Amino acid sequence: MWQVVGQSRVVSLLQHSLEKGSPAHAYLLIGPAHVGKMTLAINLAQALNCEASQPPCGECASCQKIALGNHADVQIIGLTSNGNSTEAKPRAEISIDQIRQVQHLANLPPFEGRYKVFIVDGAEQLSHEAANCLLKTLEEPIGRVVFILLTTNESLLPPTVTSRCQQLKLRPLAATEAEAALNSGLGIDPQKAELLARLSHGCLGWAIMAATDGAWLQQHNQQLDRLLDVINADYEERFAYASQLAAQFSQNRGRVQEILDLWLDWWRDLLLAKIGCSDTITNIDRSAELIDMARRYSLAQIKVFIGNIQAVGEQLKLNANPQLVLETLMLSIPEKKGEPGEISTAQFEVNYG
Ligand SMILES: [Zn+2]
Repeated sequence: MWQVVGQSRVVSLLQHSLEKGSPAHAYLLIGPAHVGKMTLAINLAQALNCEASQPPCGECASCQKIALGNHADVQIIGLTSNGNSTEAKPRAEISIDQIRQVQHLANLPPFEGRYKVFIVDGAEQLSHEAANCLLKTLEEPIGRVVFILLTTNESLLPPTVTSRCQQLKLRPLAATEAEAALNSGLGIDPQKAELLARLSHGCLGWAIMAATDGAWLQQHNQQLDRLLDVINADYEERFAYASQLAAQFSQNRGRVQEILDLWLDWWRDLLLAKIGCSDTITNIDRSAELIDMARRYSLAQIKVFIGNIQAVGEQLKLNANPQLVLETLMLSIPEKKGEPGEISTAQFEVNYG
């Protein structure tokens, strides 16, 4: 049985090609973080090697070994692994050495299963040389070898690579669908299921991690508290926050993008609260705070700032100077009504257009 939830179109496509006995040589699974790409890739590796009549059964020796990461013919290649790595530090990119090792293994026959499966996690992190090396393997497919590339952003991969893969898009679940999966499927209490379905934006992996690891939600709340402190802080503290994010950006871009997404969620929630749609907000556990805060901004102020956050995300993707764009964002946090230094909406529009 396929473990991935809410991706029935993609699953039926895969099942159809497996039933015909003609899987693609390479798949590219595209979708936001925690949407279920790795779960689907593991399921596909199981289906290719399952011993039961209706694969993937999840119960045969082969399926169980793959689930536990112990199958000799299924390898995951990513920043934190290269098959036999003992390195403690995560790499900055997937190296050509990792892909050369894959090429070597791919040319050996399957050891215990029917197919050799190589899952490249975070394929957008392949170095330029590694991507070219992988391309050579994709150009000359080897029998009974399947590559599964996972990415959050296919535009960061060379088109020569993506064009040689069957591309499958995984979409986040609707909030109600995610809530049902968490509540009836996993037995999470209704109130928590509703909150996690919203906070995860339908990316069930995030919700499941938050449900099973208390520290996950705690960290989320700490970041949100910090965000609110920064909104109320003076320029000195806002700039310190910008510097801190910029420094973090050079270490871990994804982490900073997640924090910017948190900002975007909060300000979108303020917009929804402002126009009287607070029943659709993401941070439902903070709805009273949001409704109160929304009263203190004009609709124009909220809209402008949402645009600014989105622009920063785009500029960072285009390799703008992170310190500069984040400082500019901090400068553009609108002033609340009724506070010292307040400017009216009319003045704001004159100043900021
Ligand atoms: Zn099985």
